[in-house]
Amino acid sequence: MSRRPVIAGNWKMHKLQSESAELANAVMKELKEIDKALLPEVVIAPVFTSLYAVNKALTDCGCGKVKMAAQNAYFETQGAFTGEVSVEMVKDAGAEYVIIGHSERRQYFGETDEMINKKAKKILDLGLIPIICCGESLEQREAGVTDSHIESQIKAALNGLSAEEVAKSIIAYEPIWAIGTGKTCDSDEANRVIGMIRNVVKGIAGANAADSIRILYGGSVKPNTIEEQMSKSDIDGALVGGASLTAESFGQIVKGAMKQTV
Ligand code: PEP
Repeated sequence: MSRRPVIAGNWKMHKLQSESAELANAVMKELKEIDKALLPEVVIAPVFTSLYAVNKALTDCGCGKVKMAAQNAYFETQGAFTGEVSVEMVKDAGAEYVIIGHSERRQYFGETDEMINKKAKKILDLGLIPIICCGESLEQREAGVTDSHIESQIKAALNGLSAEEVAKSIIAYEPIWAIGTGKTCDSDEANRVIGMIRNVVKGIAGANAADSIRILYGGSVKPNTIEEQMSKSDIDGALVGGASLTAESFGQIVKGAMKQTV
């Protein structure tokens, strides 16, 4: 089964509205010469306050080459949840994907496996696609519990989802020690872990869902790492942080990914 690759840029807490719209336009300019049918699914994730401006830039362009994700969303629809933004609200602002369970959210904002599962359900109920992050810390890797830790994160995140919902979802394997550190996980090892995740998905939702679900690698992906990463059998794309903050490097990553998949 051939899975359409996904290259997603997580802008984290960077950029004002005008800067975000500028970057979205610059990304589209980088991809201008490329036939849309040949492109991976290209997704950019600005901060909440820039969702409207980025959506406007993407729709004004009308090229349909770049989609938008929110970096988080809350599972309740509305109410007394000061500071939270619901899935309905990010959908209303134009997001088609929502990143959930990023290690920074787990670590600094107490996001739990149970919350991630509730968010995944809500995102899928509203017709959006969750990008579910998982990954081990350096201590867990050194203690030899990488696989069991990730297996439990995936089982919790997908709990109660139908096979169709699982198939539509995206998982990002992001070893925490590789995020923002410049230390990329060896691509054979990333491929092994992602293969293990696919096997866990098979156990939960069956072979078709496991064949369909896109599983990305994230952690210091750069223009000079993407080709090798994409050459691996189970790596379906990348979640990119730092290198998504300039159109040039993000564009190079998209183009590098295409060399392996076209
Ligand atoms: C991320 O934010 O998900 C990420 C992988 O960041 P970086 O590419 O900077 O390591």
